[in-house]
Amino acid sequence: MPELPEVQAHAERLTEAFQGAVLERFTPLAFTVLKTATPGPESAQGHALESVGRRGKHLLLRFEPCTFVVHLMQGGRLRVDEKQAARPRNGQGRWRFTDGRALLLTEAGTERKAGVWVVAGDPLSQPPLDSLGPEANLLDEPTLARLLADNPMRLHGWLRDQAILAGIGRRLANEICHRAQLSPFASTAKLTPEEVKRLHVAMGECIDESLDYERTRDDMSSSADRPGGVHHHAGEPCPVCGDAVRAVEYRSYTVNYCPTCQTGGKVLADNTTSRFLK
Ligand SMILES: [Zn+2]
Repeated sequence: MPELPEVQAHAERLTEAFQGAVLERFTPLAFTVLKTATPGPESAQGHALESVGRRGKHLLLRFEPCTFVVHLMQGGRLRVDEKQAARPRNGQGRWRFTDGRALLLTEAGTERKAGVWVVAGDPLSQPPLDSLGPEANLLDEPTLARLLADNPMRLHGWLRDQAILAGIGRRLANEICHRAQLSPFASTAKLTPEEVKRLHVAMGECIDESLDYERTRDDMSSSADRPGGVHHHAGEPCPVCGDAVRAVEYRSYTVNYCPTCQTGGKVLADNTTSRFLK
């Protein structure tokens, strides 16, 4: 799933390319894609795109009368629509501009979870953005410490909980825990001040490195391209210490970690690694 760095860099690219373009029409291509009834998307017709912004993992296409909030979820992409086919493959919605260009929202796979919300007024204070925690890259260390103590849970799940802090998903959660030398299963309420400090530094570094990489690209990266040391590297040597990266698999995601760097050598409820290590 695109996370904060991928969505941020993409918002910057789209602003660069489409700022000022006047909306001719938004057309839903799947009947489930539009999540709001009023205002209708036609309220933005004839208005220039002011900017494309980001909040958490959402893109915000801002027009003067309303904002389109777009959540790409797992397989969604928002790209320049070169062909403008009548029935584009995986097409979810299209923004066509008066200069003849268009943006197409697609979603690969069968989940159909990507969505578009049209909101008037301040989009940050309305669904779906009003339930998000603060931006993960803007937290100072005392705020981070407070959010950890106030929401006792395992660190990996805490990092991915968008209501606590926004922008981090499975890949960054794996990379941040590894960079901070913390177990993904550590209890957030029991972290020492020293560990909180390491976590804060790791979050900043991992987000910045991904953002730097993403800004070098012409289009959003696929997950296999993104930089990292442990995510999807089970069975490979840890780039820090050479121990084998381990995996704990869940139905919809995988926790990757290095025992030597993160758990004092302890191998955790390891349900998959043996097949990688054979
Ligand atoms: Zn290691």
